[in-house]
Amino acid sequence: MEEYAWTNHLASVGRLPVAGLLRLLMLAPAPVGIGIKGLDGRYWIANQQIERLLCRHGEVLSGKSESDVLPADICQMLDNAERQLLAGQVSPALRLELSVNSRLSRCVWSKLPVLGPDNALAAIVSLVFDAALPQELDELQQTNHQLQLMVERLELLAGTDKLTGAWSRLRLEESIEREIDRLQRYGQPLSVMIIDVDFFKQINDRHGHDVGDNVLRQLASMLLNRLRKADSLTRWGGEEFVVLCPNTTRASAALLAERLRQDVATAEFATTGPLTISIGVAECQCGESWSQWFKRADEALYVAKEGGRNQVQLAPQQVDADAAARSPRADFVKLQWHPAYECGNELVDRGHRLLFDNANALLAAILSQCDPAEVDPLIDRLLADVVEHFSDEESVFFAAAYPAASEHATTHRELVARALAFVDEYRKGRRWIGDLFQFLAYDVITIHMLGADRLFFPCLRATEEDGGKEQPALAQGRKTLRKRTGRLQ
Ligand code: GH3
Ligand code: MG
Ligand code: MG
Repeated sequence: MEEYAWTNHLASVGRLPVAGLLRLLMLAPAPVGIGIKGLDGRYWIANQQIERLLCRHGEVLSGKSESDVLPADICQMLDNAERQLLAGQVSPALRLELSVNSRLSRCVWSKLPVLGPDNALAAIVSLVFDAALPQELDELQQTNHQLQLMVERLELLAGTDKLTGAWSRLRLEESIEREIDRLQRYGQPLSVMIIDVDFFKQINDRHGHDVGDNVLRQLASMLLNRLRKADSLTRWGGEEFVVLCPNTTRASAALLAERLRQDVATAEFATTGPLTISIGVAECQCGESWSQWFKRADEALYVAKEGGRNQVQLAPQQVDADAAARSPRADFVKLQWHPAYECGNELVDRGHRLLFDNANALLAAILSQCDPAEVDPLIDRLLADVVEHFSDEESVFFAAAYPAASEHATTHRELVARALAFVDEYRKGRRWIGDLFQFLAYDVITIHMLGADRLFFPCLRATEEDGGKEQPALAQGRKTLRKRTGRLQ
């Protein structure tokens, strides 16, 4: 049986109470053969000593049952001992004579129950030692050491991918439930990315499987280097990895994904040359199951592959159709201006466009991993432009006698206050730059512009269309614009 298979088995029976197992084994004479088998009679794991005692040269015990390696009369005795364990009784150690590899050895074989968290029998441990060997203290210590290594391996294997050291799928699936629960209880955002190596088959075909394995190892360590503490990297299978990003919005996850993509695209892979990855990102929506959420990320990955690979694609949130129609193109985090966003008032449109440009400049700086000292002035500039634009906009819609002008001005003040507080949190190290960008670019600029702002747009148009005479809103816009342009010159 492959290690993965018995790892799954471990999960289904719960964690073995290995501490108890250790104590028992400390009392055992050395060198002790140790094997752990499931209730189907097949061994999950076996050390070299037990294999030396029971198996022919080069044969392994994992995946086999005792009847595969031992004669029927011995198996009968062992079965009887196991039946006692299954009945909840203690099974006394058996003294057996084994003839393996043309060598007769006298063994003592003890079977111990391993109980799962519900106290039900989960597995059976066999301790087999060659009764002829002296029971010296140093050998006992050696056994303990080996046992500890094995226990560590057992625990690791349950949660870790052997090749890359990334999480196993099992461990991810355990933690997903917890994270989805957290999202539902506290509304914390939660995102996932699926990473797939581009044209990985070619690497195996050209350079061989071992080189392919090395690439996967190097890739995993590169990804782990970039991830934040709370994120986890899982080897989903083959050349596919999954990154779970707790407390992360889709925009922040897309930023992180873009950095991972860049890291890989610019890295040196000895032997194989350049390598690229494609990434699909999706944020979990309230009420969504893991499989629905994963499917959206997988579809985004498919779009990335179809779109030419070496790219990040963001799964759309399933929002109502109206909101989707209004939403800016968020395939990736860069804000894209669209003529439909224009209201016709030069000052307002110019302000909106400037904010888009500033947000994109900030994004570019973040993506190129500029020093915080270089990013900081961009944040300040964006904030200053937001404040100035809000003030321009207010002068325009007050002049247009927009009925909800005061409420809109109050929204501006609130947004500015929240933005300042957000920046402050970022500078104190409590917020990640990706979240700050998400807040400034989406909440303050885009969502406000495509939501609240559109309510006063008709009011501006009405005044402009009114008899061709220059109306107060337009005049106000032109005046401020002239002043502004004059100041810039
Ligand atoms: P695409 O850009 O469409 O993803 O192309 P691809 O070649 O990466 O995709 P495909 O799914 O056709 O091939 C994946 C390959 O990954 C095939 C398989 O041999 C290889 N692979 C899977 N697991 C391992 C592994 O553990 N080690 C190595 N070396 N190769 C692996
Ligand atoms: Mg693939
Ligand atoms: Mg691939």
